[in-house]
Amino acid sequence: MPTKSSCLAILGGPKAVTADPDDTFTWPIITQEDEDACLGVLRAGKMSDIEVTQEFEKEFAAWHGVEYALAHSSGTGALEAAMWACGVGAGDEIIGPSLTYWASVLPAFCLGATIDFAEVEAHTLCIDPNDIERRINERTKAIVVVHYCGYPCDMDPIMQIAEKHRVKVIEDVSHAHGGRYKGRLVGTIGHIGAMSVMSGKALPVGEGGFLITHDRFLYEKAVAWGHYERTGTELHDPSLAPFAGLPWGAHKYRMHQLSSAVGRVQLRRYQARMDEILKSMNYWWDLLEGVPGIIAHRPPKDSGSHNGGWYAPHGLYDKDALGGLSVHRFAEAVNAEGGICHPGANMLLHLHPLLNDADIYGHGKPTRIANTDRDLRQGPGSLPVTESMPERCYGIPWFKHYRPEIIEQYALAYRKVAENADRLR
Ligand SMILES: *Cc1c(COP(=O)(O)O)cnc(C)c1O
Repeated sequence: MPTKSSCLAILGGPKAVTADPDDTFTWPIITQEDEDACLGVLRAGKMSDIEVTQEFEKEFAAWHGVEYALAHSSGTGALEAAMWACGVGAGDEIIGPSLTYWASVLPAFCLGATIDFAEVEAHTLCIDPNDIERRINERTKAIVVVHYCGYPCDMDPIMQIAEKHRVKVIEDVSHAHGGRYKGRLVGTIGHIGAMSVMSGKALPVGEGGFLITHDRFLYEKAVAWGHYERTGTELHDPSLAPFAGLPWGAHKYRMHQLSSAVGRVQLRRYQARMDEILKSMNYWWDLLEGVPGIIAHRPPKDSGSHNGGWYAPHGLYDKDALGGLSVHRFAEAVNAEGGICHPGANMLLHLHPLLNDADIYGHGKPTRIANTDRDLRQGPGSLPVTESMPERCYGIPWFKHYRPEIIEQYALAYRKVAENADRLR
């Protein structure tokens, strides 16, 4: 159905979005329950203890159906601990995507390791399973996969490659809490799931992170790395137990108990809130089905896979279907309609000077190549699909409530601009 008011707002026409969104986008949702939980911790003076955190861990592990969940002070800390637990150390390499938040891969540097960036798939924005195997060598210890903007990575081929080469898989679940791959919860498929639960994420706890695993040894290593207060009671492996009392990583990564207290409340409410987000985001993409140039970033409906809480949801863009209109100009026009559209996504890590030129630890050469004898720096042109993505995707509204009239107006902003793209060129 063609849009009625075709005069674009950016050219002086009426706006597509006229409704007040009210709290449609408000996140996190904080209620009296969260406040009471905080006050309980404060009044007991238990901010630095771990009992509330341990309750939270039990609930978090039960939700995922895993044996072990270890709360951290940040997702960054959990990812670093995950890498070290997987054996990443001096001279080693990890493989990961360049299109992600830096903490997915950058902790490799402080372990004396380095990073080989693999391509992403243009339709999922997740690591391309077909670009992993050729990068594996005897130094490769881990593959970090990121369920990008909620989209679950294609875990079956990734796990096959990892098992064949005896390399560990770390799932960065920071964008995809509660997401599913072929029916299975993301974070439980690889050797370790590590994630942020900072308050902007879909599961908003406060500053915090989680490491989950089925593997006792990997769990104990993560305890040894950054949780000295537990080393006396939780380390049983003979390679770790003799060193109890001090943290191997020289880090103190325990979660603040105010975060744990809020987290327990948020987790109890998460399934219902996530289901409403899923319903809302799916409605949004259903409305935009068939609109030229606009492509949904979600797995096929009958696949058993979904984007969970849809953190930082994105859409895909085909400018050829819109006569070459740039995603920047497209976004400008959508925003003029009162809509929400942010061109691009995370900055590309493989092109950042910190990855290629910075000598962080005084090796006398860039840290990227300081601990290895091969030059794996990746300049412009090295990852063509990844490098095309800033022009081929955009951030979309993240609906927290199923309010059809509001979602329809925001979708109309996109439809209107796409159907009148010829007036913008
Ligand atoms: C937010 C985020 C992290 C880092 O988590 P913090 O809790 O902010 O340290 C790691 N990976 C991804 C993909 C993220 O989005």
